Amino acid sequence: MDERIAAVEEMGLPAFRAKQISTHYFSHYVTDTEAMTDLPKDLRGEIQQRFFPHLLTEVRRLRTENGDTIKFLWRLFDGALVESVLMRYRNRVTLCVSSQCGCGMNCPFCATGQQGLTRNMSTAEIVEQVVRANQVIAAGELAEAPTSDMPGAGETALGAEADGPGDGEAANDEEGTATSASGPERVSNIVFMGMGEPLANYKRVMNAVRRFVGPAPEGLGMSPRRITISTVGLVPGINKLAAEDIPVTFALSLHAPDDELRDEMIPVNTRWKADEAIDAAYNYFQVTGRRVSIEYALIKDMNDHAWRAELLAQKLNARGRGWVHVNPIPLNPTPGSVWTASEPEVADEFVRRLIDHGIPTTIRDTRGSDIDGACGQLAAAD
Ligand code: SF4
Repeated sequence: MDERIAAVEEMGLPAFRAKQISTHYFSHYVTDTEAMTDLPKDLRGEIQQRFFPHLLTEVRRLRTENGDTIKFLWRLFDGALVESVLMRYRNRVTLCVSSQCGCGMNCPFCATGQQGLTRNMSTAEIVEQVVRANQVIAAGELAEAPTSDMPGAGETALGAEADGPGDGEAANDEEGTATSASGPERVSNIVFMGMGEPLANYKRVMNAVRRFVGPAPEGLGMSPRRITISTVGLVPGINKLAAEDIPVTFALSLHAPDDELRDEMIPVNTRWKADEAIDAAYNYFQVTGRRVSIEYALIKDMNDHAWRAELLAQKLNARGRGWVHVNPIPLNPTPGSVWTASEPEVADEFVRRLIDHGIPTTIRDTRGSDIDGACGQLAAAD
């Protein structure tokens, strides 16, 4: 807010204009100054230019048949393409956001990873994805909340909760709904599981998180626990995140408990080993008191063996009890890829072994897979 005040004062305007502009953007999701009737008419053009540069151009929008999931393809000012996915659940609305154009981590099973990294997204570009999604919700373009609990696609008998990507324990959170305290319905949960490795764009991602959690009109006034930051295991970044004093939900994309396989699946594992990543996740729990999620894409005959479930359980329990929740996700196959999802019985067995060891485990809904909007499938193409 101080920077906004300085910017309006630079224009020769009083400080309260910064608050007005902020309220329009963060509370009403308005970006067209012509609609900001409390601003002097002759200044709206200049305010538009200085405060509301055009950040995201919608190139394409795909909706699932029942309208509860929408995938957006955005073009940024320099032509780079990114995607975000908006998903309605019974008691929340989740937006999966991108943090980088492409990704430099090069995980072989991931569509985004095949593109390489074009550039980091700016804080404003990250925040704007949420504001644009809120505009879409306010316009009634996302289907209404279901009245009954229909199981989501990809769920198995053991997947008790229709859990969205990365929502983890926030799904069981009583606090909040998809409606803000005072205003209309809006995005209630944000997951950094779109394109990019968020901790590789640390500073801008954290600035965006501060805009998400800042009280209105400073920011969107969201609860930190409803924001999930997911990483493939950049250990220094995880430790830095733990020290931020913003208790976001943290998710580690582990995908394999042993280094031999993880080196192959997640190239950055050659730098920080599986045990170091798990230690950092445990440290996150210890520092923040927030239970962490382990994401595990179940890939047929690759990482879905019962012995790997046993090894995973052993490694997690060796650090303590009650600190972690595992989310296995049947892989969303990328066209042309040899990697494919585990058989349901194999996935169930994997889950059963973890549960037998006392580890809360939920197979994640692969919502959006019919529009290529599920995890590992975001690969923006015009
Ligand atoms: S899985 Fe995540 S970190 Fe790996 S390439 Fe894909 S987007 Fe990047």
